[in-house]
Amino acid sequence: MALEEYRRKRDFSKTPEPKGDPAAKARKAPTRFFCVQKHLATALHYDFRIEHDGVLLSWAVPKGPSLDPATKRLAMHVEDHPIEYGEFEGVIPEGYGAGVVMLWDVGTWEPETDDVDAALEKGDLKMRLDGYKLKGSWVLVRTRGWGQRSGSKDDGRSWLLIKHKDEWSGDLDITEFAPHSVKSGGSFRDILAQEAPDVWLSNRGGTSEPSVETLADILKKLDAVEPIPAEASAKAATKSSTATKSTKAARSTKRARTATRSDTEEPAGPRKRVRKR
Ligand code: MN
Repeated sequence: MALEEYRRKRDFSKTPEPKGDPAAKARKAPTRFFCVQKHLATALHYDFRIEHDGVLLSWAVPKGPSLDPATKRLAMHVEDHPIEYGEFEGVIPEGYGAGVVMLWDVGTWEPETDDVDAALEKGDLKMRLDGYKLKGSWVLVRTRGWGQRSGSKDDGRSWLLIKHKDEWSGDLDITEFAPHSVKSGGSFRDILAQEAPDVWLSNRGGTSEPSVETLADILKKLDAVEPIPAEASAKAATKSSTATKSTKAARSTKRARTATRSDTEEPAGPRKRVRKR
Protein backbone atom coordinates (compact mmCIF):
# COMPACT_ATOMS: atom_id res chain seq x y z
CA MET A 1 0.00 0.00 0.00
CA ALA A 2 1.70 3.15 -1.13
CA LEU A 3 -0.68 6.05 -1.53
CA GLU A 4 1.54 8.54 0.35
CA GLU A 5 2.86 10.13 -2.84
CA TYR A 6 -0.65 10.28 -4.32
CA ARG A 7 -1.96 12.10 -1.21
CA ARG A 8 1.09 14.35 -0.81
CA LYS A 9 0.58 15.77 -4.32
CA ARG A 10 -3.07 16.70 -3.79
CA ASP A 11 -5.12 19.10 -1.65
CA PHE A 12 -8.36 17.18 -1.13
CA SER A 13 -10.22 20.32 -0.07
CA LYS A 14 -9.66 21.58 -3.62
CA THR A 15 -9.82 18.54 -5.88
CA PRO A 16 -12.79 16.27 -6.55
CA GLU A 17 -10.44 13.28 -6.87
CA PRO A 18 -10.95 10.48 -4.32
CA LYS A 19 -8.68 10.45 -1.25
CA GLY A 20 -8.61 6.69 -1.01
CA ASP A 21 -9.44 4.71 2.11
CA PRO A 22 -6.28 4.37 4.24
CA ALA A 23 -7.70 1.21 5.82
CA ALA A 24 -8.47 -0.41 2.49
CA LYS A 25 -7.02 -3.87 2.13
CA ALA A 26 -6.25 -5.77 -1.03
CA ARG A 27 -9.56 -7.00 -2.36
CA LYS A 28 -9.92 -10.68 -2.84
CA ALA A 29 -11.77 -9.91 -6.03
CA PRO A 30 -12.23 -12.70 -8.51
CA THR A 31 -11.16 -10.31 -11.25
CA ARG A 32 -8.68 -7.47 -11.29
CA PHE A 33 -9.77 -4.03 -12.38
CA PHE A 34 -8.03 -1.96 -15.03
CA CYS A 35 -8.79 1.40 -16.58
CA VAL A 36 -7.37 4.04 -18.87
CA GLN A 37 -8.07 7.68 -18.08
CA LYS A 38 -7.57 10.22 -20.84
CA HIS A 39 -6.16 13.24 -19.04
CA LEU A 40 -5.93 16.70 -20.52
CA ALA A 41 -3.47 18.38 -18.16
CA THR A 42 -0.18 20.18 -18.89
CA ALA A 43 -0.08 17.81 -21.84
CA LEU A 44 -2.57 15.26 -23.07
CA HIS A 45 -1.80 11.71 -21.90
CA TYR A 46 -3.52 8.43 -21.11
CA ASP A 47 -3.20 7.05 -17.57
CA PHE A 48 -3.03 3.27 -17.73
CA ARG A 49 -3.95 1.71 -14.37
CA ILE A 50 -4.08 -1.91 -13.22
CA GLU A 51 -5.28 -3.18 -9.85
CA HIS A 52 -2.66 -4.95 -7.76
CA ASP A 53 -2.51 -5.44 -3.97
CA GLY A 54 -5.23 -2.89 -3.16
CA VAL A 55 -4.00 -0.02 -5.31
CA LEU A 56 -3.95 0.96 -8.96
CA LEU A 57 -0.44 0.68 -10.39
CA SER A 58 -0.20 3.55 -12.84
CA TRP A 59 1.65 4.54 -15.98
CA ALA A 60 1.19 7.77 -17.94
CA VAL A 61 1.21 7.03 -21.67
CA PRO A 62 1.68 10.30 -23.62
CA LYS A 63 0.43 8.98 -26.97
CA GLY A 64 -2.03 6.47 -25.60
CA PRO A 65 -2.18 2.72 -26.25
CA SER A 66 -1.64 1.38 -29.76
CA LEU A 67 -3.22 -1.82 -31.12
CA ASP A 68 -0.28 -2.17 -33.52
CA PRO A 69 2.41 -4.51 -32.08
CA ALA A 70 5.06 -2.56 -34.01
CA THR A 71 4.14 0.69 -32.24
CA LYS A 72 5.71 0.73 -28.78
CA ARG A 73 4.26 3.44 -26.60
CA LEU A 74 6.30 5.15 -23.89
CA ALA A 75 4.68 4.64 -20.49
CA MET A 76 6.04 6.61 -17.53
CA HIS A 77 5.57 4.79 -14.23
CA VAL A 78 3.80 7.18 -11.83
CA GLU A 79 2.52 6.98 -8.27
CA ASP A 80 -0.01 4.35 -7.19
CA HIS A 81 -3.63 5.53 -7.14
CA PRO A 82 -6.51 4.42 -4.89
CA ILE A 83 -8.88 1.80 -6.30
CA GLU A 84 -11.77 4.31 -6.21
CA TYR A 85 -9.85 6.49 -8.64
CA GLY A 86 -10.67 3.98 -11.35
CA GLU A 87 -14.23 5.29 -11.60
CA PHE A 88 -13.23 8.95 -11.59
CA GLU A 89 -14.15 11.26 -14.41
CA GLY A 90 -14.37 15.01 -14.02
CA VAL A 91 -12.68 18.34 -13.77
CA ILE A 92 -9.69 19.09 -11.54
CA PRO A 93 -9.95 22.87 -11.22
CA GLU A 94 -6.44 23.59 -9.91
CA GLY A 95 -3.27 22.13 -8.50
CA TYR A 96 -1.66 18.82 -9.35
CA GLY A 97 -3.10 17.32 -12.53
CA ALA A 98 -5.39 20.33 -13.12
CA GLY A 99 -7.49 19.69 -16.18
CA VAL A 100 -10.07 17.21 -17.35
CA VAL A 101 -10.12 13.47 -16.70
CA MET A 102 -12.13 11.17 -18.97
CA LEU A 103 -12.72 7.50 -18.22
CA TRP A 104 -11.56 6.29 -21.63
CA ASP A 105 -11.62 2.54 -21.05
CA VAL A 106 -12.46 0.22 -18.20
CA GLY A 107 -12.49 -3.54 -17.67
CA THR A 108 -10.59 -6.37 -16.06
CA TRP A 109 -7.04 -7.66 -16.44
CA GLU A 110 -5.22 -10.87 -15.78
CA PRO A 111 -1.47 -11.33 -15.44
CA GLU A 112 0.09 -13.83 -17.83
CA THR A 113 2.47 -14.80 -15.05
CA ASP A 114 2.10 -16.36 -11.59
CA ASP A 115 4.07 -13.68 -9.79
CA VAL A 116 3.14 -10.08 -10.58
CA ASP A 117 5.65 -8.62 -8.09
CA ALA A 118 8.51 -10.59 -9.62
CA ALA A 119 7.40 -9.51 -13.11
CA LEU A 120 7.33 -5.85 -12.01
CA GLU A 121 10.74 -6.23 -10.38
CA LYS A 122 12.09 -7.74 -13.57
CA GLY A 123 10.43 -5.03 -15.64
CA ASP A 124 8.44 -7.34 -17.90
CA LEU A 125 4.74 -7.73 -17.11
CA LYS A 126 2.68 -9.67 -19.62
CA MET A 127 -1.07 -9.39 -19.19
CA ARG A 128 -4.47 -9.88 -20.78
CA LEU A 129 -6.88 -6.98 -20.90
CA ASP A 130 -10.64 -7.21 -21.23
CA GLY A 131 -11.92 -3.68 -21.66
CA TYR A 132 -14.32 -2.01 -24.08
CA LYS A 133 -11.50 -0.74 -26.28
CA LEU A 134 -8.40 -2.64 -25.24
CA LYS A 135 -8.43 -6.43 -25.33
CA GLY A 136 -6.12 -9.40 -25.64
CA SER A 137 -2.47 -9.78 -24.75
CA TRP A 138 -0.22 -6.83 -23.86
CA VAL A 139 3.13 -6.26 -22.18
CA LEU A 140 4.67 -3.52 -20.09
CA VAL A 141 8.47 -3.57 -20.41
CA ARG A 142 10.83 -1.38 -18.44
CA THR A 143 13.28 0.32 -20.74
CA ARG A 144 16.75 1.75 -20.20
CA GLY A 145 18.34 4.61 -22.05
CA TRP A 146 15.34 6.69 -22.98
CA GLY A 147 16.03 9.11 -20.13
CA GLN A 148 19.78 9.01 -20.77
CA ARG A 149 19.33 9.98 -24.40
CA SER A 150 17.53 13.18 -23.39
CA GLY A 151 20.37 14.00 -21.01
CA SER A 152 18.63 13.24 -17.74
CA LYS A 153 19.49 10.34 -15.47
CA ASP A 154 17.29 7.31 -16.15
CA ASP A 155 15.31 6.77 -12.96
CA GLY A 156 13.77 3.51 -14.12
CA ARG A 157 10.39 5.10 -14.67
CA SER A 158 10.38 4.63 -18.44
CA TRP A 159 8.47 1.62 -19.65
CA LEU A 160 6.93 0.65 -22.97
CA LEU A 161 3.34 -0.47 -23.44
CA ILE A 162 3.16 -2.93 -26.33
CA LYS A 163 0.32 -4.92 -27.89
CA HIS A 164 1.06 -8.55 -28.61
CA LYS A 165 -0.03 -9.90 -31.98
CA ASP A 166 -3.39 -11.62 -31.61
CA GLU A 167 -7.00 -11.34 -32.78
CA TRP A 168 -7.29 -7.95 -31.01
CA SER A 169 -4.23 -6.35 -32.60
CA GLY A 170 -4.32 -4.35 -35.82
CA ASP A 171 -3.59 -1.00 -37.39
CA LEU A 172 -6.80 0.72 -36.25
CA ASP A 173 -5.87 3.92 -34.40
CA ILE A 174 -7.97 3.27 -31.30
CA THR A 175 -7.43 6.72 -29.74
CA GLU A 176 -8.74 8.35 -32.94
CA PHE A 177 -11.44 5.77 -33.57
CA ALA A 178 -12.87 5.76 -30.04
CA PRO A 179 -11.95 9.12 -28.46
CA HIS A 180 -14.81 9.42 -25.96
CA SER A 181 -15.71 8.34 -22.45
CA VAL A 182 -16.95 4.84 -21.67
CA LYS A 183 -18.66 6.28 -18.58
CA SER A 184 -20.60 9.26 -19.94
CA GLY A 185 -20.10 8.83 -23.67
CA GLY A 186 -18.88 12.41 -23.73
CA SER A 187 -15.87 14.32 -25.03
CA PHE A 188 -13.65 16.61 -22.93
CA ARG A 189 -15.94 19.50 -23.90
CA ASP A 190 -19.01 17.55 -22.76
CA ILE A 191 -17.39 16.71 -19.42
CA LEU A 192 -16.39 20.36 -18.92
CA ALA A 193 -19.83 21.65 -19.82
CA GLN A 194 -21.47 19.16 -17.46
CA GLU A 195 -19.06 19.11 -14.53
CA ALA A 196 -17.88 22.70 -14.45
CA PRO A 197 -20.26 24.93 -16.42
CA ASP A 198 -19.20 27.97 -14.38
CA VAL A 199 -15.52 27.51 -15.11
CA TRP A 200 -16.30 26.58 -18.68
CA LEU A 201 -18.46 29.59 -19.48
CA SER A 202 -16.64 32.22 -17.44
CA ASN A 203 -13.20 31.28 -18.74
CA ARG A 204 -12.05 34.03 -21.08
CA GLY A 205 -8.64 32.66 -21.88
CA GLY A 206 -5.75 35.01 -21.05
CA THR A 207 -5.14 34.77 -17.33
CA SER A 208 -2.92 37.05 -15.31
CA GLU A 209 -0.70 34.34 -13.85
CA PRO A 210 0.77 32.20 -16.60
CA SER A 211 3.04 30.40 -14.15
CA VAL A 212 0.11 28.98 -12.22
CA GLU A 213 -1.36 25.81 -13.64
CA THR A 214 -5.06 26.52 -13.82
CA LEU A 215 -7.92 25.13 -15.79
CA ALA A 216 -7.82 28.27 -17.93
CA ASP A 217 -4.29 27.35 -19.04
CA ILE A 218 -5.41 23.83 -19.82
CA LEU A 219 -8.42 24.95 -21.84
CA LYS A 220 -6.09 26.73 -24.27
CA LYS A 221 -4.91 23.28 -25.31
CA LEU A 222 -8.40 21.94 -25.92
CA ASP A 223 -8.76 23.15 -29.51
CA ALA A 224 -5.72 21.13 -30.52
CA VAL A 225 -6.95 18.01 -28.75
CA GLU A 226 -10.61 18.19 -29.80
CA PRO A 227 -10.67 20.37 -32.92
CA ILE A 228 -13.90 22.24 -33.59
CA PRO A 229 -15.27 21.60 -37.10
CA ALA A 230 -14.03 24.41 -39.39
CA GLU A 231 -17.56 25.55 -40.30
CA ALA A 232 -18.61 25.97 -36.68
CA SER A 233 -15.52 27.94 -35.67
CA ALA A 234 -15.78 30.17 -38.77
CA LYS A 235 -19.37 31.06 -37.87
CA ALA A 236 -18.34 31.78 -34.28
CA ALA A 237 -15.54 34.01 -35.56
CA THR A 238 -17.82 36.13 -37.78
CA LYS A 239 -20.42 36.44 -35.03
CA SER A 240 -17.98 38.03 -32.65
CA SER A 241 -14.46 38.87 -33.66
CA THR A 242 -13.63 40.01 -30.14
CA ALA A 243 -14.68 36.74 -28.53
CA THR A 244 -11.89 34.74 -26.95
CA LYS A 245 -10.98 31.28 -28.12
CA SER A 246 -12.71 29.57 -25.23
CA THR A 247 -15.89 31.60 -25.60
CA LYS A 248 -15.97 30.52 -29.22
CA ALA A 249 -15.43 26.97 -28.13
CA ALA A 250 -18.33 27.22 -25.69
CA ARG A 251 -20.59 28.58 -28.41
CA SER A 252 -19.52 25.88 -30.83
CA THR A 253 -20.23 23.22 -28.25
CA LYS A 254 -23.66 24.72 -27.70
CA ARG A 255 -24.23 24.83 -31.45
CA ALA A 256 -23.05 21.23 -31.85
CA ARG A 257 -25.48 20.16 -29.12
CA THR A 258 -28.38 21.97 -30.77
CA ALA A 259 -27.48 20.32 -34.04
CA THR A 260 -27.41 16.89 -32.44
CA ARG A 261 -30.73 17.48 -30.72
CA SER A 262 -32.48 18.67 -33.87
CA ASP A 263 -31.09 15.64 -35.73
CA THR A 264 -33.26 13.44 -33.59
CA GLU A 265 -36.33 15.58 -34.14
CA GLU A 266 -38.36 16.01 -37.27
CA PRO A 267 -36.19 17.55 -40.00
CA ALA A 268 -36.95 21.20 -40.74
CA GLY A 269 -37.26 20.72 -44.51
CA PRO A 270 -40.33 18.49 -44.80
CA ARG A 271 -42.13 20.49 -42.11
CA LYS A 272 -41.84 23.66 -44.21
CA ARG A 273 -43.23 21.88 -47.23
CA VAL A 274 -46.22 20.69 -45.23
CA ARG A 275 -46.93 24.25 -44.16
CA LYS A 276 -46.85 25.48 -47.77
CA ARG A 277 -49.58 23.11 -48.88
MN1 MN B 1 -2.59 11.93 -15.43
